[in-house]
Amino acid sequence: MRLTLLLCCALAAGAQVRYDLLLKGGHVIDPKNHIDAVRDVAIVGGRIAAVAADIPAAQAHKVVDLSSLYVTPGLVDIHTHVLTMSGLRGSLKEDQNVWADSHTFRSGVTTVVDAGSSGWRSFEAQKARILDHSRTRILAMLNIVGGGQVGGAGEQNTADMDPEATARMARRYPGIIVGVKTAHYQGPDWTPVERAVQAGTLAHIPVMVDFGVFRPERPYQELVLKKLRPGDISTHTYLARAPLLDDHGRVLPYLFEARKRGVIFDVGHGGGSFVFRQAVPAIRGGFLPDSISTDLHTESMNAGMKDMLNVMSKILNIGVALPEVILRATWNPAHEIQHPELGNLSPGSPADVAVLRLERGRFGFVDSFGARMTGTRKLVCELTVHDGQVVWDLNGITREEWTKLGAYDRMEDRSWDSTFGPR
Ligand SMILES: [Zn+2]
Repeated sequence: MRLTLLLCCALAAGAQVRYDLLLKGGHVIDPKNHIDAVRDVAIVGGRIAAVAADIPAAQAHKVVDLSSLYVTPGLVDIHTHVLTMSGLRGSLKEDQNVWADSHTFRSGVTTVVDAGSSGWRSFEAQKARILDHSRTRILAMLNIVGGGQVGGAGEQNTADMDPEATARMARRYPGIIVGVKTAHYQGPDWTPVERAVQAGTLAHIPVMVDFGVFRPERPYQELVLKKLRPGDISTHTYLARAPLLDDHGRVLPYLFEARKRGVIFDVGHGGGSFVFRQAVPAIRGGFLPDSISTDLHTESMNAGMKDMLNVMSKILNIGVALPEVILRATWNPAHEIQHPELGNLSPGSPADVAVLRLERGRFGFVDSFGARMTGTRKLVCELTVHDGQVVWDLNGITREEWTKLGAYDRMEDRSWDSTFGPR
Protein backbone atom coordinates (compact mmCIF):
# COMPACT_ATOMS: atom_id res chain seq x y z
CA MET A 1 0.00 0.00 0.00
CA ARG A 2 1.42 3.32 -1.01
CA LEU A 3 0.52 6.02 1.46
CA THR A 4 2.83 8.94 1.50
CA LEU A 5 2.64 12.31 3.05
CA LEU A 6 3.74 15.13 0.86
CA LEU A 7 4.59 18.08 3.04
CA CYS A 8 4.23 20.87 0.66
CA CYS A 9 7.01 23.28 -0.04
CA ALA A 10 4.67 25.71 -1.64
CA LEU A 11 5.94 28.75 0.20
CA ALA A 12 9.50 28.00 -0.83
CA ALA A 13 8.37 27.64 -4.40
CA GLY A 14 6.60 30.97 -4.21
CA ALA A 15 3.26 29.54 -5.25
CA GLN A 16 0.00 30.92 -3.98
CA VAL A 17 -1.24 28.83 -1.06
CA ARG A 18 -5.02 28.85 -1.04
CA TYR A 19 -5.94 25.73 0.93
CA ASP A 20 -5.24 24.35 4.41
CA LEU A 21 -5.49 20.73 3.38
CA LEU A 22 -5.56 18.93 0.05
CA LEU A 23 -6.77 15.34 -0.10
CA LYS A 24 -5.23 14.15 -3.31
CA GLY A 25 -5.96 11.30 -5.69
CA GLY A 26 -8.65 9.45 -3.75
CA HIS A 27 -11.74 7.93 -5.33
CA VAL A 28 -14.46 10.38 -4.33
CA ILE A 29 -17.97 9.09 -3.81
CA ASP A 30 -20.26 12.07 -3.19
CA PRO A 31 -23.74 10.85 -4.07
CA LYS A 32 -25.42 14.24 -3.61
CA ASN A 33 -23.20 15.73 -6.32
CA HIS A 34 -23.19 12.57 -8.46
CA ILE A 35 -19.42 12.20 -8.17
CA ASP A 36 -17.96 8.68 -8.37
CA ALA A 37 -14.43 9.22 -9.71
CA VAL A 38 -10.86 10.05 -8.76
CA ARG A 39 -10.85 13.64 -7.54
CA ASP A 40 -8.88 16.00 -5.32
CA VAL A 41 -10.64 17.65 -2.38
CA ALA A 42 -9.39 21.02 -1.11
CA ILE A 43 -10.29 22.40 2.31
CA VAL A 44 -9.92 25.89 3.73
CA GLY A 45 -11.25 27.50 6.92
CA GLY A 46 -13.10 24.34 7.93
CA ARG A 47 -15.08 24.23 4.69
CA ILE A 48 -14.89 22.31 1.45
CA ALA A 49 -13.26 24.70 -1.02
CA ALA A 50 -13.09 22.66 -4.20
CA VAL A 51 -13.48 19.17 -5.64
CA ALA A 52 -11.72 18.79 -8.97
CA ALA A 53 -9.74 16.40 -11.14
CA ASP A 54 -6.35 17.97 -10.46
CA ILE A 55 -5.73 20.65 -7.87
CA PRO A 56 -2.03 21.62 -7.78
CA ALA A 57 -0.24 20.43 -4.64
CA ALA A 58 1.54 23.78 -4.45
CA GLN A 59 -1.75 25.46 -3.55
CA ALA A 60 -2.05 23.73 -0.15
CA HIS A 61 -0.22 23.88 3.16
CA LYS A 62 -0.62 20.17 3.59
CA VAL A 63 -1.21 17.50 0.95
CA VAL A 64 -2.19 13.91 1.67
CA ASP A 65 -1.94 11.23 -1.00
CA LEU A 66 -5.08 9.08 -0.90
CA SER A 67 -4.59 6.95 -3.98
CA SER A 68 -6.27 3.52 -3.57
CA LEU A 69 -8.64 4.93 -0.94
CA TYR A 70 -12.25 6.12 -1.09
CA VAL A 71 -13.14 9.66 -0.05
CA THR A 72 -16.71 10.28 1.08
CA PRO A 73 -18.60 12.94 3.01
CA GLY A 74 -18.35 12.49 6.79
CA LEU A 75 -20.88 9.82 7.73
CA VAL A 76 -24.19 10.82 9.32
CA ASP A 77 -25.62 8.34 11.84
CA ILE A 78 -29.18 9.34 12.70
CA HIS A 79 -29.89 6.73 15.37
CA THR A 80 -27.53 6.73 18.36
CA HIS A 81 -27.76 7.09 22.14
CA VAL A 82 -25.11 9.54 23.26
CA LEU A 83 -26.97 11.90 25.60
CA THR A 84 -27.33 11.21 29.35
CA MET A 85 -24.32 9.14 30.59
CA SER A 86 -25.76 8.08 33.92
CA GLY A 87 -28.47 9.60 35.99
CA LEU A 88 -31.25 8.78 33.57
CA ARG A 89 -31.88 5.25 34.72
CA GLY A 90 -30.46 5.71 38.17
CA SER A 91 -26.89 4.49 37.76
CA LEU A 92 -24.06 4.39 35.25
CA LYS A 93 -24.34 0.62 35.10
CA GLU A 94 -27.96 0.77 34.00
CA ASP A 95 -27.41 3.61 31.54
CA GLN A 96 -27.02 2.28 28.01
CA ASN A 97 -25.69 5.46 26.47
CA VAL A 98 -22.14 6.05 25.28
CA TRP A 99 -19.69 8.93 24.84
CA ALA A 100 -19.92 9.86 21.15
CA ASP A 101 -16.27 10.72 20.47
CA SER A 102 -15.18 7.24 21.62
CA HIS A 103 -17.06 5.67 18.72
CA THR A 104 -17.63 8.13 15.89
CA PHE A 105 -14.45 9.41 14.24
CA ARG A 106 -12.78 6.00 14.15
CA SER A 107 -15.57 4.83 11.88
CA GLY A 108 -15.81 7.93 9.69
CA VAL A 109 -18.86 9.38 11.46
CA THR A 110 -18.84 13.15 11.97
CA THR A 111 -22.50 13.75 12.82
CA VAL A 112 -24.79 11.74 15.06
CA VAL A 113 -28.39 12.18 16.08
CA ASP A 114 -29.31 11.11 19.57
CA ALA A 115 -32.60 9.31 19.00
CA GLY A 116 -34.79 10.23 21.92
CA SER A 117 -32.57 9.67 24.92
CA SER A 118 -33.78 13.01 26.23
CA GLY A 119 -37.22 14.55 26.32
CA TRP A 120 -38.27 18.17 26.58
CA ARG A 121 -37.65 18.24 30.35
CA SER A 122 -34.18 16.68 30.26
CA PHE A 123 -32.74 18.00 26.98
CA GLU A 124 -31.24 21.27 28.19
CA ALA A 125 -29.33 19.65 31.05
CA GLN A 126 -27.94 17.01 28.68
CA LYS A 127 -27.06 19.62 26.10
CA ALA A 128 -25.07 21.60 28.69
CA ARG A 129 -23.39 18.51 30.09
CA ILE A 130 -22.63 16.51 26.92
CA LEU A 131 -23.68 17.94 23.57
CA ASP A 132 -21.90 21.29 24.02
CA HIS A 133 -18.61 19.56 24.91
CA SER A 134 -18.53 16.90 22.23
CA ARG A 135 -16.25 17.15 19.20
CA THR A 136 -18.67 14.98 17.25
CA ARG A 137 -21.56 17.06 15.92
CA ILE A 138 -24.46 15.87 18.08
CA LEU A 139 -28.02 16.63 17.05
CA ALA A 140 -31.07 15.30 18.85
CA MET A 141 -34.54 13.94 18.47
CA LEU A 142 -36.64 14.64 21.56
CA ASN A 143 -38.43 11.69 23.06
CA ILE A 144 -42.16 12.35 23.21
CA VAL A 145 -41.87 11.28 26.85
CA GLY A 146 -40.93 14.48 28.70
CA GLY A 147 -38.35 12.71 30.85
CA GLY A 148 -36.76 10.95 27.86
CA GLN A 149 -35.91 7.29 27.35
CA VAL A 150 -36.04 6.42 31.02
CA GLY A 151 -36.83 2.74 30.56
CA GLY A 152 -39.65 0.60 31.93
CA ALA A 153 -42.84 2.22 33.13
CA GLY A 154 -41.63 5.75 32.41
CA GLU A 155 -41.80 5.14 28.68
CA GLN A 156 -45.38 3.88 28.97
CA ASN A 157 -46.58 7.02 30.73
CA THR A 158 -48.81 8.72 28.18
CA ALA A 159 -49.51 11.50 30.73
CA ASP A 160 -45.90 12.62 30.19
CA MET A 161 -46.27 12.84 26.39
CA ASP A 162 -46.90 16.53 25.80
CA PRO A 163 -46.77 17.58 22.11
CA GLU A 164 -46.87 21.34 22.79
CA ALA A 165 -44.03 21.28 25.34
CA THR A 166 -41.99 19.01 23.06
CA ALA A 167 -42.52 21.29 20.06
CA ARG A 168 -41.71 24.38 22.14
CA MET A 169 -38.36 22.92 23.18
CA ALA A 170 -37.64 21.84 19.59
CA ARG A 171 -38.31 25.35 18.30
CA ARG A 172 -35.94 26.77 20.91
CA TYR A 173 -33.05 24.84 19.33
CA PRO A 174 -33.70 24.80 15.59
CA GLY A 175 -31.13 22.76 13.70
CA ILE A 176 -30.01 21.01 16.89
CA ILE A 177 -33.31 19.34 17.71
CA VAL A 178 -34.08 17.66 14.40
CA GLY A 179 -36.92 15.31 15.22
CA VAL A 180 -39.28 13.70 17.69
CA LYS A 181 -38.87 10.08 18.78
CA THR A 182 -41.29 7.55 20.18
CA ALA A 183 -40.03 4.17 21.35
CA HIS A 184 -40.66 1.00 23.31
CA TYR A 185 -44.38 1.48 23.78
CA GLN A 186 -46.26 -1.64 24.83
CA GLY A 187 -49.85 -0.44 24.95
CA PRO A 188 -52.58 -1.22 22.40
CA ASP A 189 -53.24 2.42 21.46
CA TRP A 190 -51.69 4.93 19.09
CA THR A 191 -51.20 7.68 21.70
CA PRO A 192 -47.37 7.94 21.55
CA VAL A 193 -47.30 7.94 17.73
CA GLU A 194 -50.11 10.48 17.47
CA ARG A 195 -48.55 12.81 20.07
CA ALA A 196 -45.14 12.55 18.42
CA VAL A 197 -46.62 13.38 15.01
CA GLN A 198 -48.50 16.30 16.58
CA ALA A 199 -45.23 17.62 18.06
CA GLY A 200 -43.41 17.07 14.78
CA THR A 201 -46.12 18.96 12.90
CA LEU A 202 -45.98 21.89 15.32
CA ALA A 203 -42.17 22.11 15.10
CA HIS A 204 -41.86 21.22 11.37
CA ILE A 205 -39.54 18.29 12.05
CA PRO A 206 -39.80 14.56 11.33
CA VAL A 207 -40.82 11.83 13.73
CA MET A 208 -38.82 8.63 14.23
CA VAL A 209 -40.71 5.58 15.42
CA ASP A 210 -39.38 2.55 17.24
CA PHE A 211 -42.66 0.62 17.22
CA GLY A 212 -42.03 -1.14 20.53
CA VAL A 213 -44.20 -4.19 21.03
CA PHE A 214 -46.01 -5.11 17.82
CA ARG A 215 -49.71 -5.55 18.63
CA PRO A 216 -52.66 -6.51 16.43
CA GLU A 217 -54.61 -3.49 17.73
CA ARG A 218 -52.13 -1.18 16.01
CA PRO A 219 -50.70 -2.93 12.94
CA TYR A 220 -47.35 -1.84 11.55
CA GLN A 221 -48.97 -1.55 8.12
CA GLU A 222 -51.27 1.17 9.47
CA LEU A 223 -48.28 3.01 10.96
CA VAL A 224 -46.45 3.38 7.68
CA LEU A 225 -49.50 3.66 5.40
CA LYS A 226 -51.60 6.05 7.48
CA LYS A 227 -50.15 7.35 10.73
CA LEU A 228 -46.76 8.62 9.59
CA ARG A 229 -46.37 11.68 7.39
CA PRO A 230 -44.07 11.82 4.35
CA GLY A 231 -40.58 12.36 5.77
CA ASP A 232 -41.30 10.53 9.02
CA ILE A 233 -38.96 7.67 9.82
CA SER A 234 -39.59 4.06 10.77
CA THR A 235 -36.40 2.76 12.38
CA HIS A 236 -35.38 -0.86 13.10
CA THR A 237 -36.54 -1.78 9.60
CA TYR A 238 -35.09 -5.32 9.54
CA LEU A 239 -36.35 -6.32 12.96
CA ALA A 240 -37.36 -9.96 13.42
CA ARG A 241 -40.99 -9.19 14.09
CA ALA A 242 -41.52 -6.54 11.42
CA PRO A 243 -43.86 -7.87 8.71
CA LEU A 244 -41.57 -7.62 5.67
CA LEU A 245 -41.92 -10.89 3.76
CA ASP A 246 -44.67 -13.22 2.59
CA ASP A 247 -44.53 -17.00 3.04
CA HIS A 248 -42.35 -17.29 -0.06
CA GLY A 249 -39.82 -14.74 1.19
CA ARG A 250 -41.03 -11.99 -1.13
CA VAL A 251 -41.25 -8.38 0.03
CA LEU A 252 -44.79 -7.44 1.00
CA PRO A 253 -46.17 -4.83 -1.45
CA TYR A 254 -47.42 -2.43 1.26
CA LEU A 255 -43.80 -1.52 2.03
CA PHE A 256 -43.27 -0.12 -1.46
CA GLU A 257 -46.56 1.71 -1.14
CA ALA A 258 -45.42 3.28 2.15
CA ARG A 259 -42.12 4.29 0.57
CA LYS A 260 -44.01 5.86 -2.31
CA ARG A 261 -45.92 7.94 0.25
CA GLY A 262 -42.56 9.29 1.45
CA VAL A 263 -42.16 7.29 4.65
CA ILE A 264 -38.48 6.71 5.43
CA PHE A 265 -37.11 3.29 6.41
CA ASP A 266 -33.99 3.43 8.57
CA VAL A 267 -31.77 0.54 9.68
CA GLY A 268 -31.34 1.30 13.41
CA HIS A 269 -29.33 -1.91 13.87
CA GLY A 270 -28.93 -1.83 17.66
CA GLY A 271 -28.68 -4.84 19.91
CA GLY A 272 -31.84 -6.56 18.72
CA SER A 273 -33.09 -5.02 15.51
CA PHE A 274 -31.21 -6.44 12.53
CA VAL A 275 -31.80 -10.01 11.41
CA PHE A 276 -30.17 -11.44 8.27
CA ARG A 277 -33.17 -13.73 7.66
CA GLN A 278 -35.24 -10.56 7.25
CA ALA A 279 -32.66 -8.15 5.85
CA VAL A 280 -31.11 -10.32 3.13
CA PRO A 281 -34.34 -11.35 1.34
CA ALA A 282 -35.85 -7.89 1.81
CA ILE A 283 -32.84 -6.04 0.42
CA ARG A 284 -32.30 -8.50 -2.42
CA GLY A 285 -36.03 -8.17 -3.13
CA GLY A 286 -35.53 -4.45 -3.69
CA PHE A 287 -36.45 -3.09 -0.27
CA LEU A 288 -33.27 -1.20 0.58
CA PRO A 289 -33.00 1.04 3.63
CA ASP A 290 -33.25 4.79 3.01
CA SER A 291 -30.67 5.41 5.70
CA ILE A 292 -28.14 3.26 7.51
CA SER A 293 -27.81 3.90 11.24
CA THR A 294 -26.31 2.07 14.18
CA ASP A 295 -28.59 2.53 17.21
CA LEU A 296 -25.28 2.78 19.08
CA HIS A 297 -25.49 2.02 22.80
CA THR A 298 -23.72 -0.23 25.29
CA GLU A 299 -25.77 -3.28 24.33
CA SER A 300 -24.94 -2.95 20.63
CA MET A 301 -21.39 -1.57 20.53
CA ASN A 302 -19.64 -4.88 21.27
CA ALA A 303 -22.26 -7.18 19.75
CA GLY A 304 -23.14 -7.78 16.10
CA MET A 305 -23.58 -4.08 15.37
CA LYS A 306 -20.06 -2.83 16.36
CA ASP A 307 -19.98 0.45 14.45
CA MET A 308 -21.30 2.35 11.43
CA LEU A 309 -18.80 0.87 8.97
CA ASN A 310 -19.59 -2.67 10.11
CA VAL A 311 -23.30 -2.07 9.49
CA MET A 312 -22.52 -0.51 6.09
CA SER A 313 -20.27 -3.48 5.25
CA LYS A 314 -23.19 -5.83 5.94
CA ILE A 315 -25.39 -3.96 3.48
CA LEU A 316 -22.52 -3.99 0.96
CA ASN A 317 -22.02 -7.74 1.28
CA ILE A 318 -25.74 -8.38 0.95
CA GLY A 319 -25.27 -7.01 -2.56
CA VAL A 320 -25.83 -3.25 -2.53
CA ALA A 321 -23.30 -1.29 -4.62
CA LEU A 322 -20.79 0.85 -2.71
CA PRO A 323 -22.09 4.25 -3.96
CA GLU A 324 -25.60 3.21 -2.89
CA VAL A 325 -24.29 2.28 0.56
CA ILE A 326 -22.47 5.62 0.86
CA LEU A 327 -25.61 7.50 -0.23
CA ARG A 328 -27.52 5.89 2.64
CA ALA A 329 -24.90 6.93 5.19
CA THR A 330 -24.36 10.51 3.96
CA TRP A 331 -26.77 12.49 1.84
CA ASN A 332 -29.95 10.52 2.56
CA PRO A 333 -29.73 10.81 6.36
CA ALA A 334 -28.61 14.47 6.13
CA HIS A 335 -31.66 15.17 3.98
CA GLU A 336 -33.95 13.25 6.35
CA ILE A 337 -32.94 15.47 9.30
CA GLN A 338 -33.20 18.66 7.22
CA HIS A 339 -29.46 19.41 7.23
CA PRO A 340 -28.69 19.84 3.52
CA GLU A 341 -25.23 21.26 4.30
CA LEU A 342 -24.18 17.86 5.71
CA GLY A 343 -23.53 14.53 4.01
CA ASN A 344 -21.97 16.07 0.90
CA LEU A 345 -18.75 17.62 -0.41
CA SER A 346 -20.24 20.69 -2.07
CA PRO A 347 -17.97 23.76 -1.89
CA GLY A 348 -19.03 25.74 1.18
CA SER A 349 -20.21 22.70 3.14
CA PRO A 350 -18.51 21.90 6.47
CA ALA A 351 -15.28 20.01 5.74
CA ASP A 352 -16.45 16.67 7.13
CA VAL A 353 -14.72 13.89 5.22
CA ALA A 354 -14.28 10.15 5.70
CA VAL A 355 -11.41 8.34 3.96
CA LEU A 356 -12.22 4.65 3.67
CA ARG A 357 -10.30 1.56 2.66
CA LEU A 358 -12.25 -1.29 1.09
CA GLU A 359 -10.56 -4.46 2.30
CA ARG A 360 -11.00 -7.67 0.40
CA GLY A 361 -10.80 -11.08 2.03
CA ARG A 362 -12.97 -13.36 4.11
CA PHE A 363 -14.93 -11.58 6.81
CA GLY A 364 -17.70 -12.55 9.19
CA PHE A 365 -20.67 -10.39 10.17
CA VAL A 366 -23.05 -11.15 13.00
CA ASP A 367 -26.68 -10.10 13.34
CA SER A 368 -28.80 -9.40 16.39
CA PHE A 369 -29.78 -13.05 16.77
CA GLY A 370 -26.17 -14.20 16.68
CA ALA A 371 -26.32 -15.50 13.11
CA ARG A 372 -23.25 -15.10 10.93
CA MET A 373 -22.94 -13.96 7.35
CA THR A 374 -19.68 -14.45 5.47
CA GLY A 375 -18.58 -11.58 3.26
CA THR A 376 -15.67 -10.66 1.03
CA ARG A 377 -15.48 -6.89 1.54
CA LYS A 378 -15.13 -4.71 4.58
CA LEU A 379 -14.89 -0.95 5.01
CA VAL A 380 -12.21 0.46 7.31
CA CYS A 381 -11.69 4.12 8.21
CA GLU A 382 -8.21 5.47 7.43
CA LEU A 383 -8.82 9.15 8.06
CA THR A 384 -11.60 11.37 9.36
CA VAL A 385 -11.70 15.14 8.92
CA HIS A 386 -14.24 17.13 10.91
CA ASP A 387 -14.74 20.86 10.33
CA GLY A 388 -11.42 20.82 8.49
CA GLN A 389 -9.47 19.20 11.35
CA VAL A 390 -7.96 15.72 11.24
CA VAL A 391 -9.71 13.86 14.07
CA TRP A 392 -8.76 10.27 13.19
CA ASP A 393 -5.72 9.01 11.31
CA LEU A 394 -5.38 5.22 11.57
CA ASN A 395 -1.96 4.91 9.97
CA GLY A 396 -0.64 8.43 10.41
CA ILE A 397 -0.95 9.25 6.71
CA THR A 398 -1.07 12.97 7.44
CA ARG A 399 2.08 12.76 9.57
CA GLU A 400 5.80 12.98 8.91
CA GLU A 401 8.14 10.01 9.44
CA TRP A 402 9.88 10.45 12.77
CA THR A 403 13.27 9.84 11.16
CA LYS A 404 12.88 13.03 9.13
CA LEU A 405 12.24 15.33 12.08
CA GLY A 406 15.84 15.77 13.16
CA ALA A 407 16.94 16.09 16.75
CA TYR A 408 14.23 16.42 19.38
CA ASP A 409 13.81 19.96 20.64
CA ARG A 410 12.03 20.59 23.93
CA MET A 411 10.50 23.73 22.47
CA GLU A 412 8.36 21.51 20.23
CA ASP A 413 6.22 20.64 23.24
CA ARG A 414 4.71 24.10 22.98
CA SER A 415 3.16 23.35 19.62
CA TRP A 416 1.47 20.17 20.83
CA ASP A 417 -2.19 20.00 20.02
CA SER A 418 -3.78 17.89 22.72
CA THR A 419 -6.41 16.57 20.36
CA PHE A 420 -4.14 15.46 17.58
CA GLY A 421 -0.43 16.00 18.11
CA PRO A 422 1.70 18.84 16.80
CA ARG A 423 0.54 20.58 13.66
ZN1 LIG B 1 -32.47 3.40 19.82
